[in-house]
Amino acid sequence: MRCLVTGAAGFVGSHLCSELLEHNGKVWGVDDLSKGRQERIAELMENPDFIFVNNSIGESAALSAIVKEVEVIYHLAAVVGVKQYVEDPARVVEANVCQTAHLLKLAWQYGKKVLFTSTSEVYGKNKELPFVENADRLYGPSDKDRWSYAIAKSAAEHLCLGYSRKGLPVVIVRYFNAYGPRADSSSYGGVVTRFISQALRDEPLTVHGDGCQTRCFTYIDDIVDGTVKAGHVPEAEGRIINLGSKRETKIKDLAEMISEIAGGKKIVYQPYREFYGPYYEDIPRRVPDLSVAEQVLDYYPQVPLETGLKKTLEWYKSEQDFI
Ligand code: UDP
Repeated sequence: MRCLVTGAAGFVGSHLCSELLEHNGKVWGVDDLSKGRQERIAELMENPDFIFVNNSIGESAALSAIVKEVEVIYHLAAVVGVKQYVEDPARVVEANVCQTAHLLKLAWQYGKKVLFTSTSEVYGKNKELPFVENADRLYGPSDKDRWSYAIAKSAAEHLCLGYSRKGLPVVIVRYFNAYGPRADSSSYGGVVTRFISQALRDEPLTVHGDGCQTRCFTYIDDIVDGTVKAGHVPEAEGRIINLGSKRETKIKDLAEMISEIAGGKKIVYQPYREFYGPYYEDIPRRVPDLSVAEQVLDYYPQVPLETGLKKTLEWYKSEQDFI
């Protein structure tokens, strides 16, 4: 299978490229390296079946040439990270909507299948758990910049479904809090890698609010497994599919777990406003319904949280440049 992966030097993108190459594929990886890091794909660069193109999605000529060549496009390039949403919401909307629109136009022109990676963020603060794919979306006001990402990814989903209605094969997957080696550990990254990097730097783990907010953390291998299946299985076309894990974890409990496996670290509580500023609103609970993934993709996440956290911690210990 010949594939294009956008966002190839990102956290999920780099793992996905490795997995696609394992299946004897040929992979074109596109990334403008704005947030992507070349170190993530250093090993892949030695593989003759991996072609890296340092380019933005907006640059048409190079991208059209690749789209013509491939059978499936995995569109992962995105501006992601909660701190990013409150610091530069315009960029979040522009990148996530406009790039997707551009890519879909090319896919339509050449009749190529698209797998679009969306997010559990689109459910917003809907209180009806677990989240099923056709659940309502509930967001706060426009002046809470946090919602810029959910709105942008929702708009991009509408674009995808619009092309799907016209006959383009499109699959949408919604990720639930992916974590693992190579994730961004800066203040723009997710909570798991934040806590791990704090623990390894001997800093206190910073729990926001009262720490009772919950997430279902999903190890990268499971995320990649579901994504590859979603790109292959014909029954997935035209559908939205949650990819996550079912174990609901409070952030304060996550901090305890990481503190323990890191040998006992201090945990502190930090007001949201101190970290995110005034334009933030948290999502209290987030849990996926995985029935569609189970039925359509035979997707069953395999990596328990304890195992995934240990593996991730060990990886960051050995890769100090990523901390
Ligand atoms: N969080 C935290 N400490 C941190 C980073 C995040 O307590 O250093 C909290 C954050 O406020 C949220 C949860 O962890 O309630 C998950 O945040 P993340 O940025 O991973 O992504 P989200 O699931 O909100 O998109």
